[in-house]
Amino acid sequence: MILGHKKQQQFLKKSAELDRISHAYLFHGPSHLGKKTIAVEFIKLINCQNPNKPCGKCRSCEDIQKNAYPDLTVIEPEARTASKGGSLPGREIKIGQIKKLQKELSLCSYQAKIKAAIINKAECMNQEAQNCFLKTLEEPKGKTLLILIAEHPETLLPTILSRMEKIKFSTLSYQEIEKHLLALGAEEKLAQEIALISEGRPGIAIELFSNPQRLAEQKQRIKEIMRLVSADISFRFQYAKTLAQSPEDLPKVLDIWTRCFRNALLAKLEVKEFSTTNFKNYSVIKLKNILKTLQIIRDLIAKTNANPKLALEMLMIEL
Ligand SMILES: [Zn+2]
Repeated sequence: MILGHKKQQQFLKKSAELDRISHAYLFHGPSHLGKKTIAVEFIKLINCQNPNKPCGKCRSCEDIQKNAYPDLTVIEPEARTASKGGSLPGREIKIGQIKKLQKELSLCSYQAKIKAAIINKAECMNQEAQNCFLKTLEEPKGKTLLILIAEHPETLLPTILSRMEKIKFSTLSYQEIEKHLLALGAEEKLAQEIALISEGRPGIAIELFSNPQRLAEQKQRIKEIMRLVSADISFRFQYAKTLAQSPEDLPKVLDIWTRCFRNALLAKLEVKEFSTTNFKNYSVIKLKNILKTLQIIRDLIAKTNANPKLALEMLMIEL
């Protein structure tokens, strides 16, 4: 299901109807907005076998949904194995993945008119991969459709950016999310609560609505940060130590805290309804500094081998 982004969807639909599909698109904007879902729906729309496109029921639509369509390649950073088992989110898209894609694109299509590729988290392409990808953009072989999805497109080579048709995605309003949740059958209080936590991101809102356990976890993490705010430094460091022992949870926890502080900041600036009781001694500058530190830590953990405990201690001092 796609919430919001009507303009973007209509634009893509029109391009397909008029047979004016670009060779390469860049879908950019914050995470959890539904960019990848819209990219997949667009590929379905182009390849659907029924008049009411995309039907979601024909063989093409079903195969595309299952990522089993021979004329569609989806590339993402490969997951890493955590030291204690389990898996961590991937950090990089490597040149090997792009070379494999080039090979795929050079083959004749099986059934589609256009061979397509979606590169999710495109900013994770390392330098080598980006240079290699540039060749695909410069010398397309046959009819191909490339969709890059990125939260931070500024890290892509300018030569890549200049060759793409850009479609921007933004967060939805608090009211839009609440309205959609009510339509899905959520009770008013729950819809308001999720709308606030999800910060305009439909992907998060739907996940929290369909998974009460995840919602409880998020609320627990918010309670923890509220408690840390008034705790002394030794308690905070002890907490950082415990949290650092589960590095696979860290990106999600930092994401929840970022949203929590951003909400607090917006409330201070009177942009949004949010209880700031726990942050009453926090100035706008302090909240901004915390958000900056959170961003640094998230980058450190996502892109380097930084020690999670030391990174978290940075935040504990800033609080
Ligand atoms: Zn179909």
